[in-house]
Order: sequence, then structure tokens, then C-alpha cells
Amino acid sequence: MKDTRKDFPILEREINGNNLVYLDNAATSQKPKQVIDSISEYYSNHNANVHRGIHTLSEEATKLYEDARKKVASFIGALPEEVIFTKGTTESLNRVAISWGLKNLKKGDVVLLSDFEHHSNMIPWMEETKVVGAKVSYLESNENGEITLDEVKKKINENEGKVKIISITHASNVLGTIVPIKEICKIAHEKGILVCVDGAQAVPHMKVSIKSLDCDFYAFSGHKMLGPMGIGVLWVRKEILDKLEPYEFGGGMVDEVSYEKATYTDAPVKFEAGTPNVSGAIGLASAIDYLENIGMDEIRNHEIELNKYTLEKLKEIKNLEIIGPKEAEKRTGVISFVVKNVHAHDIASVLNGFGVAVRSGHHCAMPYHRKHKISATTRISHYLYNTKEDIDKLIEGINKATELLG
Ligand code: PMP
Repeated sequence: MKDTRKDFPILEREINGNNLVYLDNAATSQKPKQVIDSISEYYSNHNANVHRGIHTLSEEATKLYEDARKKVASFIGALPEEVIFTKGTTESLNRVAISWGLKNLKKGDVVLLSDFEHHSNMIPWMEETKVVGAKVSYLESNENGEITLDEVKKKINENEGKVKIISITHASNVLGTIVPIKEICKIAHEKGILVCVDGAQAVPHMKVSIKSLDCDFYAFSGHKMLGPMGIGVLWVRKEILDKLEPYEFGGGMVDEVSYEKATYTDAPVKFEAGTPNVSGAIGLASAIDYLENIGMDEIRNHEIELNKYTLEKLKEIKNLEIIGPKEAEKRTGVISFVVKNVHAHDIASVLNGFGVAVRSGHHCAMPYHRKHKISATTRISHYLYNTKEDIDKLIEGINKATELLG
């Protein structure tokens, strides 16, 4: 893996007198100067509102925005007209639960989620099912933090004919587990069940091909894949998209408007009412260029190698328990752990003293933590710019923390 650190200005920072070791990438990734420059270039030279203007700047901004959509589509193997820009995974999943759910779910129907979903893929379904009288049910992960296909079949059979959609993460933000989406889609589709995928922790880390997964909805965020905050994607299969109603109404998405009624333009613009996040889309396109330049397979290989190293090192620490899959290949770069008698926040705080940024808490998966009687975990999440030296500094910090607090 080539050295990318020089591209990330923030990695030059010192925190508490130490060089920054950034291991909180599951929360958000850092941005290379190529992405930062693309946003600055847009605002310096091309800024205008999109789609409606006939002046040069508006045409340039529209082209940059629509080119960004094409880039996203090609990155995930989809059609540009199926790519809706949102502000992030949370908005994308809310749109599925509300736009699709309110129209297609009815009393007695079941929405299947995993027991380790992020709140963003849990609460929208809880709220939506409350309105229509449907129910949320959970797939139970096994002791290795995985969702087995037997469990999927079992839950579908237990709710014979009632499950209408499975909404599930592609990679867990707590356990790192990579979920077998392709196989789940196959099982679901045989029973006429749709599959919505939360790809927030997958798209930044591995090659994702919508066609090969064969899912129905796919959501992800730009800011976790080197792009800016405030831009995300909802991909919807064309046949479903054609029947979907907009979720917001206003400027930019109309065809004809009278004082009495309005008709709407086609997807995806129909689902993007108001002024969109043009600079965000441009920044995301630049992030995709950056990732593709390195190669997603290369990024994934680096991740597995660093996982192996980190898991080995963590196992040497007394009283430390790693949660999630034991195998480095079954995870993304997310590794959460608990240390007996030491609170996760205290570990994170000591680590911060050494310039090491990690996250502690329930990572927006409170029910999973409660179920396993864990009050909080410490989570490290590495990415393409992290090195074995970063992990060595982390381990040194954890050892100091357990010495001080244990
Ligand atoms: N799902 C998962 C698995 C996540 O990790 C996150 C972010 N932590 C989200 C959804 C929500 O993403 P965003 O905050 O970008 O909307």
C-alpha cells in the first residue's frame, strides 16, 4: 500500500504534544487535500445554483453535480438515474422507511433488522411501523458476532408471509462484521421480500457492486469515505424508484405547478427538492477518484493486514475482551473491546492524552450493548492511512491506561 499520509493535512497535527494517531474512522474519515481542493475550486470558480440557470456558471455547476452522480453510480455499479443525493446514510434510511414503508407496509407486516443495527437503521423503522401497525423483528447474531443464513431463514419462516423487507447493515459499526448481503438477498427475493442495505461502513472499505449484491435499496455517507460531511447516497432499484413518491416537496423537482396542484419531474431530481449540496457531491466525486486511484482491493488488503496485526496485539493485553468476529477477514477495520473493571471512556481519555483518537460508548447501537450487558466499549477503527506504528502507539496507550486505571 503506497504511503498516503502526506495527502492528509490533518495528520500533521499534534494533540497533547504527540503526533495525532487517528483511529476514529468509523465515525468519520479524514479528508485528503485533493478533496479539500475540489471544494475550494468549485466555490472559487464555478459556484451557482444548479438545473435552472442558462448562464455559464449554472451550466458548469450543473455539469459538475451531474458528473458527480455519474461517478457515484459507476463506483457502485449502478445507473445514474437510480442515485439520489441525500445528506447521509441517516436521511437515506429514513427515506426508505417513510417513502417506501408508509405506502407499502400494512398492519401485521414485519420488518426484519439485525440485532446490531445502528440507530439510524432501527429508529426510522420503529417509528414507521408504529404508524401502520406493522412490527419490527430482529435477527439474532451468534457468539462470533455474525448473522447466519440459517437465522435469516428461521426468522422468515417464523413470520411466514409477513416479512416484507429486511433492512440490514453491510458492515457493523460496532462489531466490524461483514454481513453476507448477496446471500441474504437471494433468500429474501425467493420469498418476495425486499432488502435495504445500510452501507455506511462498507462502501469506504471494499468494492461494492449493487448489481452483484442484487439488493433493492442501498444507503451510504460521503464523510466516511474521505468525502465531505452533509452528502450521502440513496440508491434505489429502478422498478421500485419509478413507483416511489417524493418525501419532500418544493423547488427544483416540479414539472407543472398551478395554484391547485403540481406534477413532478423524473427521478432522481424528483427526490431532491430544494438547492442540493453541490459542493458536497463534487467533494464526494473527488473522494471516489482518490479511492479508485489506490484501488478498493488494495484498500481492503491493507485493512485485513492491519486487522491481523491489531487483533494479535490486543489479544496480548490482560483482561481485554474483543467483541465481534475472531477472524480478521470477516471484519472491516472496526475493532471494539472491553477491559475488565476499566470504563471505556477512561481508556479513550487516557489515549487522547497520547494523541490517539478512539471512540467510546455504545456507538449508536444501544440495544446491542444492553443485550450483552456491556455498558460501553472502546472502538478503534482504522483506514487506509493508518499504519502498524499507529497500532503500536495505540497498544502502548492501552497498556498505560490499564496500568493507571486497572
Ligand atoms: N449506519 C452505520 C452502520 C453507521 O456507522 C453510521 C454512522 N456512524 C450511520 C448509519 C449513520 O451515518 P450518518 O451519520 O452519516 O448519517
